[in-house]
Amino acid sequence: MLSPISKASFARVTSPEILPGSSQTIVKYRVEGDTFTEPELWFSIWNKYDHWISPRMDGALLALLIPAMRRNLNLYLDGIVTDTLLFNVNQDIQSLLRTLDPSLNHIVVTAREHEPADRPSQHIATGFSGGVDSFSTIGDYFLATNIPQNLRLTHLMYFNVGSHGPGGERLFRERWQRLAPTADRLGLPFIRVNSNLDDWFDRADDFPSTHVLRTLAASIVLSGGIGRYLHSSTYAWSVFQAMPDPFYSSRSEPMLVPLLSTGASVVQSVGSSRSRLERIKFVSTIKESYDSLDVCQSPLAAGNSSKCRKCLQTMLEMDLQDVLHLYESVFDVKRYRSNREAIIAHFWTRTRPQDRDIQTLIKEHHLEPSLLEVSKQRLVTKANRFKHSILG
Ligand SMILES: [Zn+2]
Repeated sequence: MLSPISKASFARVTSPEILPGSSQTIVKYRVEGDTFTEPELWFSIWNKYDHWISPRMDGALLALLIPAMRRNLNLYLDGIVTDTLLFNVNQDIQSLLRTLDPSLNHIVVTAREHEPADRPSQHIATGFSGGVDSFSTIGDYFLATNIPQNLRLTHLMYFNVGSHGPGGERLFRERWQRLAPTADRLGLPFIRVNSNLDDWFDRADDFPSTHVLRTLAASIVLSGGIGRYLHSSTYAWSVFQAMPDPFYSSRSEPMLVPLLSTGASVVQSVGSSRSRLERIKFVSTIKESYDSLDVCQSPLAAGNSSKCRKCLQTMLEMDLQDVLHLYESVFDVKRYRSNREAIIAHFWTRTRPQDRDIQTLIKEHHLEPSLLEVSKQRLVTKANRFKHSILG
């Protein structure tokens, strides 16, 4: 047993309190320390799955690791943590997180008890947001015919860990309700996990750059039932790297994800054998996606706005592969078609990793935008940058 260092430099996290309600069971950890403003971290799970809740503190550890590193606060977990996870957190996990973001501090994480993992359960889950990556995972790990039993999905999960932005809990519920009929049609139970985890993160640690730990924290809370969790990766193998990159930190996913396994809950990064364009082509063979694909980043409502960058990019990627007509019930395809030249010019001038593939396809289709349209898009991009810089 290792003791906490001093009151001023650490936070003590208490053992989970399990609080059954009429339909939901809340798992609550109190956090005692003077630099956190939130007094507790909680996850809320349907009573039906309450026997899957792990009595260990692995989920709380993953949830609070980056917030504690940001505040340079050593963590003392006053309960049981899986020994391999505790070891990896103090070694490679923090080392990798600091490689990606050198402004994070290295902290000391200790626990009252550390024990080997229990035997893993047979259930296999993945997060289902209705996006291209999660449909691709369903295609590979549920709908395909050659899946080994130990990799075949048995459950889908949906989390409130920060991806809903200002839409918060309202959007979390709306999006889940919109996707639930699709999970039903697939014949997979769709588990909803609510939490206040987002309240713990600073603005610097936004959802895209910290989503791996947030999501896996919520899934590992149910490691008494989920023995394997398939994390849908964002990128193809060819763009992975471990270096500071505030905009595309997902490029380190396949390195970070396996370090978070506990033995009782094996986590695996999947989907990198396909590029974004290849995934879209693959997903277009899954009929369940036609009326439920949801890629939108707008926090206003569930479903696709057909106006945000992600919606426009996805429609263009579908258009260039001749599958956009399959998605007329989830996108405003008419609006896309009337703005097509400007949308092509916008992605033609971008420099993100996935934009190179789109640009290659634009060339193959001889759809290169006119110089006038490119100049207009550059002006729009500059104006947006200026607007964001003055608005913060
Ligand atoms: Zn959108």
